[in-house]
Order: sequence, then structure tokens, then C-alpha cells
Amino acid sequence: KKRVLSGIQSSGMLTLGNYIGAMKNFVALQHECDCYFMVADLHAITVHQDPAALREQSEAVAALYVAAGLDPKQAAIFMQSHVPAHAELGWMMTTLTYMGELERMTQFKDKSEGKDAVGAGLFVYPPLMAADILLYNAHLVPVGDDQKQHLELTRDLAGRFNQRYGETFVVPEPFIPKVGARIMSLEDGTKKMSKSSPSAGSYISLLDAPEIIRKKISRAKTDLGREVIYDVQNKPEISNLLSIYAQCTGQTVEQVQAQYDGQGYGAFKKDLAEVVVQTIEPLQRKYHEIRTSGEIRDILRSGAERANAAAEATLSAAKEAMGFLPRG
Ligand code: ATP
Ligand code: MG
Repeated sequence: KKRVLSGIQSSGMLTLGNYIGAMKNFVALQHECDCYFMVADLHAITVHQDPAALREQSEAVAALYVAAGLDPKQAAIFMQSHVPAHAELGWMMTTLTYMGELERMTQFKDKSEGKDAVGAGLFVYPPLMAADILLYNAHLVPVGDDQKQHLELTRDLAGRFNQRYGETFVVPEPFIPKVGARIMSLEDGTKKMSKSSPSAGSYISLLDAPEIIRKKISRAKTDLGREVIYDVQNKPEISNLLSIYAQCTGQTVEQVQAQYDGQGYGAFKKDLAEVVVQTIEPLQRKYHEIRTSGEIRDILRSGAERANAAAEATLSAAKEAMGFLPRG
């Protein structure tokens, strides 16, 4: 069985982008692979989080994993901070990483742009992510398109470690969906949809009420003209809405485009809102059940046990390879 590791930061409420780009594949892979899905809380604090909000968001992300269809009996669902090996191997990987490599990372550039006090954690995010993946000797990492560059670095670091200290880690492959790997902001078709965006109108949260979803979609930016045509170069905004529609209904973009041939943006957006609401509503119902049942704490406890067992074994092998004295 192939092993899989991925995670989502508890830096806000999950968006439709996280669902389409990452979580849908978590659910698809859980039966055929040995899966580990973490709530990346250590990554979330690379930008400031209010403690009460972080606690709430962390529990919400875990509950959304289950609501989206992850079965805690199949996949280990856990908090990154409940497995100390992440921070430990993260440091070891940081020492293998070159400054130049980190300076080239577009996520760092995007997130630090225009800020005058940028936390160092944001800069060393990629080697921690490498540690997350390598600890489980994951073969596959289901992520959205924006994480491709970090995964490339992870592969380089795994290779570097193996070469310097002997074969220790599996070199992982990215698992990126062919369509929907980069859902764009509703307010700017050139920026990706992000849960930590300060503008709530730019994203659809998986916990937005139907009225809010309708409002956000009706206000979503659309390109000049009125034809519903998929053309990323010239019509990035309407193309994005078309791919959201297609992803929610399981159609191809061409099918959706044909369906709206001759109709304007207004009719299309109205239907899109209903399609999104129908996708999200069952998930929300399940989410509220899970939160009220209180079962999430138990799920996280047993997930952390499984994850710790796997991670500790890899961490000791890596420490031994690097030359740390055994504790005896
Ligand atoms: P943040 O703004 O805090 O970085 P985010 O929305 O980018 O939040 P992450 O936790 O960084 O979410 O990423 C979780 C997963 O979701 C990753 O696999 C990432 O590639 C994927 N993802 C994030 N945004 C999108 C998007 N707009 N479209 C498709 N996939 C996405
Ligand atoms: Mg992100």
C-alpha cells in the first residue's frame, strides 16, 4: 500500500478552494492508501493567530475532514502539534536547506510582500513541510497547485539527506488534481482563493450560510463582456467560476460552457450559487453533528497515537543517520 500524507493549516475556515484542490483527493485516496491527514497548526502560527481562534479553527478543520468524508478508521486524523517529531525533524531539515532555496519560494514572497515585520517561521515553512511528509515516508502528497514548489523542495531535501547520510527517506510525488488545482479569488482572478485573506468576499468558506454564498457569488468579479466562455488568458474570472461549477457538479468545463451558451453572466451566477450551496449543505449538516457529538477529541487522540508511532520510528532512523548520540 502506498502511504499518503497531507494537511491543511488551521489559519482560518476552510474554503471551497481547499475542498476542491486538496480535501476531495484526501477522501478519494483513503481506501487505497495508508493515509495520514494532519491539521497543520504548527504551520498556522507562521502568521499570528489569536489563541482562542486557533483552538476553534483547529477543531473545526478536523471536524470538516470527517464531514467531507474522511473515515477516522481508515485515515489517521491528527493535530501536527500532537506529534513532536514534526518540530524536531523540521529543525533538522532546516539545517539542510539553503537560504537561496527559501528566498525563491513564491508562497514566502506572496505572504511577506509589503509587510515590514515578517516572522522567520514564514521563511522556514518549507523545511517543516518537508519534515511533515518525510516522517511518514509518504509516496504521495495530495495538494493544490500552489504547493508544487514546496513539494519540489521536499524532494530535493529528501535526496540531499539520503545522499549525505544514507538512504533514509522515500522521495515523495505530488498528487495534484488535473482541474480545480488552483481556485481563484472571487475578487481577483489573478490571485488564488485563500482562507487567510483579510477580505471575506474573496473566498467561499465551507461554513458560510447559503445566503452568504449567494451574496458572494452574485458579487464575484466578472470579466468584461457577457459570454460564459472558458478562456483563462482573457477571461480569468468567468473561467474560475466555470471550473467551480464543473467541480461541484462533476461535469467537464466544456459541458458547463455548452449549457450556458447564449446566456449571460447573471443566469449563470444564479445557478452557480445553487450548485455550490448544494455541494456544501450536506457537509455542513454533518459538520454540526460532529461538533455537537464531541467525538472529535477521541478521533484526534487515536489519530495522534497512530501518527506518533510512524513518525517516531522515522525520526530515530534520521537522527541515527545524522550522527546524534543515542539516548541509551
Ligand atoms: P492560507 O491562506 O492560510 O495559506 P490556504 O487557503 O492557502 O490558507 P493551506 O492550508 O495553505 O490553505 O493549504 C491547504 C491545501 O489546500 C493545500 O494542499 C493547498 O495547495 C490547497 N489549496 C489552497 N488554496 C487553494 C486554492 N485556491 N485552490 C486549490 N487548492 C488550494
Ligand atoms: Mg496556503
